[in-house]
Amino acid sequence: MFDLAIIGGGPAGTAAALEARRCGLRVAVWERDRLPRHKVCGEFISAEALPWLQQVVPRTLERGSVIRDAEFVCENGFTRGFDLPRPARGLSRYWLDRALWSAAAENSAEVHEGQSIRAVRKLGGSQSDGGWKLESADGHTEKAKALIVACGRWWALEGFSSPIHERKPAGAGKWVGIKAHFAGVAPRGSVEMYLFRGGYCGLAPIEDGEYNVCCLLRRRCLRDVGMQGIENLAAWLVQVSCHAALAGRLQGAMQVSPTVTTAPVLLVRRQPAQEGALLAGDASGFIDPFTGEGISIALHSGRLAARAIAASLSMGSGDEHGAEIYRQSLRQAVRRSYKMATLARGLLHGSPWVQGLAATPLPWFGRWLFRETRWREAPKDKAASFT
Ligand SMILES: Cc1cc2nc3c(=O)[nH]c(=O)nc-3n(C[C@H](O)[C@H](O)[C@H](O)COP(=O)(O)OP(=O)(O)OC[C@H]3O[C@@H](n4cnc5c(N)ncnc54)[C@H](O)[C@@H]3O)c2cc1C
Repeated sequence: MFDLAIIGGGPAGTAAALEARRCGLRVAVWERDRLPRHKVCGEFISAEALPWLQQVVPRTLERGSVIRDAEFVCENGFTRGFDLPRPARGLSRYWLDRALWSAAAENSAEVHEGQSIRAVRKLGGSQSDGGWKLESADGHTEKAKALIVACGRWWALEGFSSPIHERKPAGAGKWVGIKAHFAGVAPRGSVEMYLFRGGYCGLAPIEDGEYNVCCLLRRRCLRDVGMQGIENLAAWLVQVSCHAALAGRLQGAMQVSPTVTTAPVLLVRRQPAQEGALLAGDASGFIDPFTGEGISIALHSGRLAARAIAASLSMGSGDEHGAEIYRQSLRQAVRRSYKMATLARGLLHGSPWVQGLAATPLPWFGRWLFRETRWREAPKDKAASFT
């Protein structure tokens, strides 16, 4: 029996695996995809994530571009920018996720790549600490004393309450994420956000002089324009956004990766623990992508969940104790970030007039908002004190 089973090999799952190994646990992690693979993401990695990534995947991190400021460009061309409090990085998920996965394997986590977990079952009933049984799509079964679900925003696990089975909140499924990589975009060293009626598009410099172009669009935009021609993302986006500055920026750019899309994008928070299993990263809640803090929250929450489990296993105190440590620490770390992101969402997705109004004081408002939407290290990480 493993001490810990982790479902999902994105940033949250691999960070949890690495932290669990550091705490001496016997850990196994399952990832449905084969890595590397392209994933819809702005690929902006905030400064809060960098110190730990520097420790575990220094060579991959080194390949990324340094990003020192942020720029917002409204539909009418009105532009405002601000310096980031600390430099961030632009690095593709193609390389980041693979590097984290390899690091987990090198640190003796048992890794199952290209294997989906189909069902989980709590052993001995819901009140018991008897552990978990997992069944993969190809019919293999494994047991573990504890479970972390790090499946991202949208998942289905038989025997475990999953988003696919939940009643969707009002307005759910309104958003679609789309991205591709481009060469030949003149380098600027900033993350650029182009705001328009149907959503926004982010440009971030990544490795090898390339740019990631990623947008979050209202589904109804797609209904109006259709998906035809989306494989040529720049031309398609120019048509959808009617944003002259974005069109200018993408002129002459050459697409070097396939267009990938994701839906539904639900901006929700969930209970971070269910039946003693812990939910980490997007599985526990999805913060608005414009904050650029999703990867950081995934890494931190994955590690926090692993520490909480290590603490409860070492004390023999039962999985509800680990769940309580995790719940409290996670709440302290992200509660404010979610609140502030919700506040900013109203401005960002408002009419062009509202967007312009919000962008005017951007140099100070942007810096403030950016700081307010970061992961907050709990003053006293209860889980850390046990490990
Ligand atoms: C449009 C958009 C732009 C974004 N831009 C940024 C940005 O610029 N910066 C930033 O920090 N964040 C950004 N984010 C958010 C960021 O992508 C996520 O917060 C981050 O990926 C969360 O990591 P995770 O490990 O929780 O989930 P994921 O990265 O989604 O990983 C979950 C993994 O679990 C696997 N999985 C799912 N079900 C199973 C199963 N049953 N068995 C086995 N494996 C399974 C999946 O294949 C997946 O690889 C953006 C998101 C979107 C949608």
